[in-house]
Amino acid sequence: MYGADVAFLSFVDDRYQWMKAITGNGIGSSIERERSVCQIMIASGEPLVFGDMQKEPKLNGHPVAPFLPFRFYAGVPLLTPEGAAVGSFCILKHEPQDAAGFDVSTLIDLAAVSMDEIELWQHNQVLERAAQTDGLTGIANRRAFDQALERASRRVRRTQEPLSLLLLDLDYFKALNDTAGHQAGDDVLRQFACVVAQAARRPDDVAARYGGEEFALILPSTDQTGALEVAQRLGANLASAEIPHPRGIDGLVTVSIGAVTADPATEFTAGALVSAADAKLYEAKRTGRNRVVAGPLP
Ligand code: GH3
Ligand code: MG
Ligand code: MG
Repeated sequence: MYGADVAFLSFVDDRYQWMKAITGNGIGSSIERERSVCQIMIASGEPLVFGDMQKEPKLNGHPVAPFLPFRFYAGVPLLTPEGAAVGSFCILKHEPQDAAGFDVSTLIDLAAVSMDEIELWQHNQVLERAAQTDGLTGIANRRAFDQALERASRRVRRTQEPLSLLLLDLDYFKALNDTAGHQAGDDVLRQFACVVAQAARRPDDVAARYGGEEFALILPSTDQTGALEVAQRLGANLASAEIPHPRGIDGLVTVSIGAVTADPATEFTAGALVSAADAKLYEAKRTGRNRVVAGPLP
């Protein structure tokens, strides 16, 4: 449109200007704001055109402008809907050009389109995060769990490391709702979610609310000993949280845990892993609750 040698889009933070998209050569990926030509335009919030930077009185003594391999500059601010200038959309040319006859309106339009796209992307990020999060507890929801377990299962083949899955179900939870009320039940779910989230210590661990009062922990690169350790630590943390339960074991909220570990040498599906963990969980319930039953994937 303008026959520019370089075009770029940048954003600023409190100290630096970051070039996020550049076409053409001769522009670095960041610059200190106080050394940048764009800063003059961003500070004013208005479009700026220099027909010849080397002869421009406003750039006299500028630390960078005289040394650039460009003479012509045109830049417009990237404006938020509130009108804050958060970056720049600029073109540069090696040769000087008449500034008075230059029409910046297309640059302004393109900058507005860029900001619309960025806003849309941000909205999508927020929606994507919401779609993966459980509304009550703030940890990963079932949908996110399913995706994470599929991913972790596929990765076992590549990493050749074991994968463990913990399924957790609160003990006598129905009785807690019935005696303390549904609100109190929800409160306990939130507190328990924190305990589960704390047990997910490694960056790849995933703590999720699997359903009602059932939770899950995906533990990549974790063998059976490791899984048992995590489960027992979680149980101990819950015990020391001392969450009251009128009809619970010793008057406290407790949890039963089924843990299963998949060996990288055998083929398995995410579904098989869940079924096996569920069977272990059932065994923990059947043999007295408030305990961990762990084993390999059959
Ligand atoms: P068990 O020890 O065998 O697990 O007994 P339980 O009473 O916990 O039985 P179960 O696991 O089947 O309990 C499920 C109960 O969890 C049923 C329902 O009242 C309660 N529940 C499920 N989702 C929620 C929720 O979002 N909030 C509250 N307050 N309660 C829930
Ligand atoms: Mg249950
Ligand atoms: Mg239960």
